[in-house]
Amino acid sequence: MSSSDASPIAVPATANVEDHPVRFRFENTFARLPEYFYVRLDPTPVAAPHLVKLNRELARSLALDPDELASPQGVEILAGNRVAEGAEPLALAYSGHQFGHFVPRLGDGRANLLGEVVGHDGVRYDIQLKGSGPTPFSRGGDGRAALGPVLREYIVSEAMAALGVPTTRALAAVTTGERVLRDTAVPGAVLTRVAASHLRVGTFQYFAIRGDTEATRILADYAISRHYPEVAQATQPYKALLDGVIARQARLIAQWMLLGFIHGVMNTDNTSISGETIDYGPCAFMEAYHPATVFSSIDHGGRYAYGNQPRAALWNLARLAETLLPVMVGEAGSEEAAVAAANESLAAFEPQFEAARYSGLRLKLGLSTEHEGDSALAESLLQCMADNRADFTLTFRRLCDAAAGAEGDAGIRTRFADPAAFDTWAAEWRERLQKEPADQQARATAMRRVNPLFIPRNHLVEEALDAASRRQDFQPFEELLKVLSQPYEDRQDLERYAMPARPEESVLQTFCGT
Ligand code: AMP
Ligand code: MG
Repeated sequence: MSSSDASPIAVPATANVEDHPVRFRFENTFARLPEYFYVRLDPTPVAAPHLVKLNRELARSLALDPDELASPQGVEILAGNRVAEGAEPLALAYSGHQFGHFVPRLGDGRANLLGEVVGHDGVRYDIQLKGSGPTPFSRGGDGRAALGPVLREYIVSEAMAALGVPTTRALAAVTTGERVLRDTAVPGAVLTRVAASHLRVGTFQYFAIRGDTEATRILADYAISRHYPEVAQATQPYKALLDGVIARQARLIAQWMLLGFIHGVMNTDNTSISGETIDYGPCAFMEAYHPATVFSSIDHGGRYAYGNQPRAALWNLARLAETLLPVMVGEAGSEEAAVAAANESLAAFEPQFEAARYSGLRLKLGLSTEHEGDSALAESLLQCMADNRADFTLTFRRLCDAAAGAEGDAGIRTRFADPAAFDTWAAEWRERLQKEPADQQARATAMRRVNPLFIPRNHLVEEALDAASRRQDFQPFEELLKVLSQPYEDRQDLERYAMPARPEESVLQTFCGT
């Protein structure tokens, strides 16, 4: 057992490695796949590793010892200066459609998969270093990551996890003691990312574009055994794999929509086979609700705008279906039958997405039973919010107060440009609530479990990154992380974290900063 989180580093700097090994207990499976699935390569050492954040709770859930990770040897491993025992570092090969344009060879240009560990939940997880140096896939990039984007991914992925959304996690962030050149020279950093796996739609595309059906089959079998073991016995396992990915993506995108999350770069290389949110670049949580909202500075056409996310996901899944066709032919009997099967799978996305979104919206409105008109009621609130630039998160959160009694309306009306517009909608809503079980307090409590109070608001994220990058002040980062770890719990004196940006604080654009 480790000592408390506040304890100083347990292993003295002079400790010898043999005395204090950093035990990962790697059990690698991806490294057993054919050599052309990746390039074996160690991370590139950095000048002066310094641990700025360790996710001790996540470490424990992965059967890792946080004190070992925080030791000098542990930090060297997290920086890429030392290869842990049992690690088999490699850069994964993949392709990707980036904003609709196909790039046959992307791959890990700045990441090394160290290996896999099995958590206390019995799930196998990838441990990956991101920002760990150039690889044969770097395409002219420096293979590095800047501290700002590393902390951004740390904050937002951990916030998503606390919100209950499937996501990759952040195990650690270290600074490198080196500067990386972006718009200016900024501090470099390495993120340790934990993922159910790093298989993406783009991984399948990598082999499909090369016409390598055998590799596609090996990859599909691997994806099935790792993420969808239940489909191995299906009569058409590859169609069942496609169905599985579609179902998880439909649920995932519905969760994003219900929280106002905008991924920002829904390219096929950022669409995970496991159904996790992956690659936090110019992502953002929407404040004033509008379906056309875009933050990413590189998304000129609004391809990945909030309201386009379901369509973008389906487009990516269609690309996955295409890659699977050659292996689906065998099980379907003919090419026509395989195409028909793939189309049938794809047709299931929209109803599954709509069902997940709709049931989520009903819970957000406090509707535990289902009645005709519920969907229209939800849509009319969203329309009203769009017309009135109402803050997405705060509107739904304050609806919990309004559900406990009409005196709760005051806090929500003021979020609407025209408060009377809310009153009109609220009258309809209250009429509908008559059909619900009478206990108002229970309703409000249930609503507070699905309508978060704290999301990573852009101006707060920027403030935290700025303090860390410019002043080496990690206090705002730590405080923000702490608030976001309990997004549904109201606590004293945290008003500032719940409120939307004032106009002068408002962040209108986000950047990859890669
Ligand atoms: P991303 O935008 O992070 O999803 O990355 C898209 C592709 O660009 C992936 O192949 C990355 O490995 C690669 N990439 C991003 N940043 C860098 C970098 N600084 N150096 C090398 N490759 C990079
Ligand atoms: Mg990516």
